[in-house]
Amino acid sequence: MKIIDRLNQDGIHISFEVFPPKTDEGFDKVASATDEMAKLGPAFISVTYGAGGGTSKNTAKIASHIKDDLKVLSLAHLTCASSTKEEVRGVIKNLKKLGIENILALRGDIPPDVSFPAKDRFRYAYELVEEIRKHGDFCIGAACYPEGHVENEHKEDDIRYLKQKVDSGVDFLTTQMFFDNDIHYNFLYRIREAGITVPVLPGIMPITSASQMKRSQELSGTVFPRRFLAMLDRFGHSPAAMRQAGIAYATDQIIDLLANGVRNIHIYTMNKPDVAAAIMGNLSEIIKA
Ligand code: FAD
Repeated sequence: MKIIDRLNQDGIHISFEVFPPKTDEGFDKVASATDEMAKLGPAFISVTYGAGGGTSKNTAKIASHIKDDLKVLSLAHLTCASSTKEEVRGVIKNLKKLGIENILALRGDIPPDVSFPAKDRFRYAYELVEEIRKHGDFCIGAACYPEGHVENEHKEDDIRYLKQKVDSGVDFLTTQMFFDNDIHYNFLYRIREAGITVPVLPGIMPITSASQMKRSQELSGTVFPRRFLAMLDRFGHSPAAMRQAGIAYATDQIIDLLANGVRNIHIYTMNKPDVAAAIMGNLSEIIKA
């Protein structure tokens, strides 16, 4: 089944994310994290693609496990900048062979040793979207950035390029993490004005430790609101307290989104089924209302 068909059904759809193991030995651990998450009834589980493409096979393997063994929709991430076009085509063909219908098409980080334009590489995610479309009837998701992508000085450019990406065949978007919902509402207004009408899944990252916050900031360039920083300042020294506060903060963001009419939400659960379970427990009555 395609994720877009699921998102178009009535009700609230909450999805989770895992990252694949770097080595084959780590497979069982990640698979068992997905097994626990599947019990929580997510709309789908996405599987990230390691920077540089090194975990490509494991992304496909975990996505297959989710789809075939757990009977949950899976979304395989795929990046293009760090691989040749031929390598990317090989991954798409393999996903098709495995019956994986849903791909999150991403550019990924530009490797330091590659300069664009390069004849044998896709430069932007929209080119990857066009390529995936040639290979069959996939449901294609893509990334978007409520606070702007780090490489763009002006948000207008970001939204213009986002429109180009969506028009090349994107079915839905998932946002970069954010910690202030007003930024998301403002972004939604701007992209709708620009004519981008596909479903947008806000990406919520539960921050359960001080070190995770630092990593998240480095990765996304996100701005942490004063309320979040006060929480970190007060509870950051205690792992148990910070975990509880981070779960409460993410829950609060989700409740606000639901209260404002958002129906589809993606949680960056990483490989932590306990965190996913705690948030879903906090929402148990809310998502039924
Ligand atoms: P693009 O859409 O290609 O945009 C990249 C930059 O180029 C932007 O600044 C954009 O405005 C600009 N641009 C786009 N089109 C044009 C154009 N025609 N002309 C000029 N400029 C243009 N990374 C991984 O390695 N693995 C993952 O699994 C992964 N999952 C992610 C999931 C989500 C939901 C998000 C938000 C990010 C994820 N990333 C992942 C990170 C992502 O690969 C990086 O943020 C990357 O820098 C940009 O990818 P993109 O697909 O958004 O690129």
